[in-house]
Amino acid sequence: MSIVVMKFGGTSVADAEKIRAAALRAIRRQKAGHQVAMVVSAMGKTTDALEALAAQITDTPPKREMDQLMATGEQVTISLMAMAMESLGASAISFTAGQIGIITDDAHTKAKIKSIDVRRIREQLDAGRIVIIAGFQGVTEDGHVTTLGRGGSNVTLVAVAAALGAEVCENYTDVDGIFTADPRIVPNARKIDRITYDEMLELASLGAGVLHNRAVEFAKKHDVPIHVRSSLHNRKGTMIVADTESMERIVVSGAALKDKLARVSLAKVPDRPGVAATIFHTIAASGIVVDDIIQTKAEDGTAFVSFTLELAELSEAKKVIEKLCRRLDCHATFEDHLAKVSVVGMGMRVHTGVAERMFAALAKAGINIENITTSEIKISCLINRDEGKRALRLVHDAFELGARPGAKKRARKAKKKKPRRKSGKACLLYTSPSPRDLSTSRMPSSA
Ligand code: ASP
Ligand code: MG
Repeated sequence: MSIVVMKFGGTSVADAEKIRAAALRAIRRQKAGHQVAMVVSAMGKTTDALEALAAQITDTPPKREMDQLMATGEQVTISLMAMAMESLGASAISFTAGQIGIITDDAHTKAKIKSIDVRRIREQLDAGRIVIIAGFQGVTEDGHVTTLGRGGSNVTLVAVAAALGAEVCENYTDVDGIFTADPRIVPNARKIDRITYDEMLELASLGAGVLHNRAVEFAKKHDVPIHVRSSLHNRKGTMIVADTESMERIVVSGAALKDKLARVSLAKVPDRPGVAATIFHTIAASGIVVDDIIQTKAEDGTAFVSFTLELAELSEAKKVIEKLCRRLDCHATFEDHLAKVSVVGMGMRVHTGVAERMFAALAKAGINIENITTSEIKISCLINRDEGKRALRLVHDAFELGARPGAKKRARKAKKKKPRRKSGKACLLYTSPSPRDLSTSRMPSSA
């Protein structure tokens, strides 16, 4: 019997009515002849509320205790979901990560899944139960509760789907799919039908917030196609799939904005082997995640090193870097006013003129580019944060991401119709047709 793994995000289980609706969806799936496992997030903004609660107690909560606290959100949902299913006449059982052996490393608040022991899940599925699993959490080999980082239920979903060799993996949330840009900023953003894992990974790390990039990485490694779709209706969302040649026809698939960035610049850095290693070893050791790194040679024979990072990490970085500068005798400056606008597309590998088009769009609007970074499938420009949203709209228009043949006509038609209820976001994950048995296998360390 084929296995379906469904995941419901916080907004899709925000209250009793929504929990019941999610339960019904799962029951329907089971009645259609599937074995059904469900991963759930904490209800609504519960995780934020828990974080805020900790902040009322202390500015520096021990990370282990933070995990202990944050993991409670999902435990509430799993039990309520199981109750909802039982009350609707289905047979269901809920599990925390510890109860089903979702083993992680001990990097509290951003742990990585090492293995999943799916025996218990399978037993319950075989007994005809719907199995409800707490997303976002894990447990170390020593039994400490961990969490996988904000939005981590998606990681749980993909990991469980891969480990079970599920046929279909669905992630229901409050948007219709992946958009060409954040529709809250870009009103004419369009839902994407198909996007590759790599594009999605780039978009996620560049600020598109729909899916956790570790979830996508996991999906890519295990070839678990992802269908992002809404929990409010049955229309198709966005399929996240392996790349094929035909996907290269689209030059740019999406644009993204990361708008809380800071930059650290180091001048007069001694130019000798090992210095860059020392700098970034020190930074990594303090748990700071660095974004783009640039090193150039200055005329006086020293090196100039700069890197961007999340604004929230700047104060920690300042401490570390100032100490380091005293040791290396270099000079540091810190900027906190930056944003990064990016475009992503597989087609960049084969089409030319993409960078020029992006730079021209920003230039025409008088937006200064402070930094440019590229990869095979993305171009990013660092700009002033105040210009961020406008830049995103400009770039989105420059690549005509909102427009599609006949779109204007359809829009006119739609205007005449009664306005539809605005729908939410959701994500479906389909596994490969010949799932490998990953039960109790080690998960790739990068995922
Ligand atoms: N509840 C966690 C969060 O809000 C995990 C998740 O929703 O995926 O980040
Ligand atoms: Mg959440």
